[in-house]
Amino acid sequence: MMPADVEIRGLSKRFGAADVLRAVDLDVRSGELLCLLGPSGCGKSTLLRILAGFEEPSAGTVSIAGRSVAGVPPSERDIAMVFQSFALYPHMSVRANMMTPLIMSRLPFWSRQPLLGTLLPGVRAARREIGLEVERLAGQLRIEALLDRKPAQLSGGQKQRVAIGRAIIRQPRLFLMDEPLSSLDAGLRSEMRGELVALQRRLGVTTVYVTHDQTEAMTMADRIVVMMDGRVLQAGAPLAVFHEPQHVAVARFLGTPA
Ligand code: ADP
Ligand code: MG
Repeated sequence: MMPADVEIRGLSKRFGAADVLRAVDLDVRSGELLCLLGPSGCGKSTLLRILAGFEEPSAGTVSIAGRSVAGVPPSERDIAMVFQSFALYPHMSVRANMMTPLIMSRLPFWSRQPLLGTLLPGVRAARREIGLEVERLAGQLRIEALLDRKPAQLSGGQKQRVAIGRAIIRQPRLFLMDEPLSSLDAGLRSEMRGELVALQRRLGVTTVYVTHDQTEAMTMADRIVVMMDGRVLQAGAPLAVFHEPQHVAVARFLGTPA
């Protein structure tokens, strides 16, 4: 799948009387890792949820790979999203968690049950191929030894790797992460930053990564977009944003010496 570019124009969102997004213009370039950085409550998650199709904008447009996605349901946007809260299927093994997206997208519904499916050679071969793909990605994420465990038997960092694996395995054209490391402890967080960047590079998938943590944005991003109070205040390379803040509010948030 070609990594997609994204074009956001005049995007606004109101909840009741609250203007949560105010005429946001933003481009995400094909294949880049873009960090959306801003304080809690500035509208980052709302923007991601609109990209994913979980929320409709009050005004403005979103185009992915040159096409408006207005009214296109989440399942038809070819987007994967990782949440802060993992959201793994608790009753399924790690292997089954990671196989599910490929089973849903490749096998007809009547053959998705393991027992029914294995009766037919074609379905059996497809399941075997899916199993191999899961093992390959699990190796890259260093969770290959955990494939037969249930989520309850994993540490926080291991759950997060599984959640990332499950999201990315379909090779979506757009990958969205909403503060995916915020529930991990500091040591694991910095280790995972490097691994996420390496994985994103290897897959080349266009990625929007939401964080309120400036260190995370500085160390991971190709480009940083600083949001405050529903607006985009600045976009640029990490060092440029840090050393040349264009608003007092950005400088204050980043702690840039005046
Ligand atoms: P961030 O992710 O940057 O912390 P959010 O996008 O979650 O910010 O929220 C931005 C603002 O919108 C917050 O004030 C939040 O309370 C409000 N908000 C988010 N979702 C809803 C909703 N479904 N209904 C009402 N207000 C909401
Ligand atoms: Mg949020």
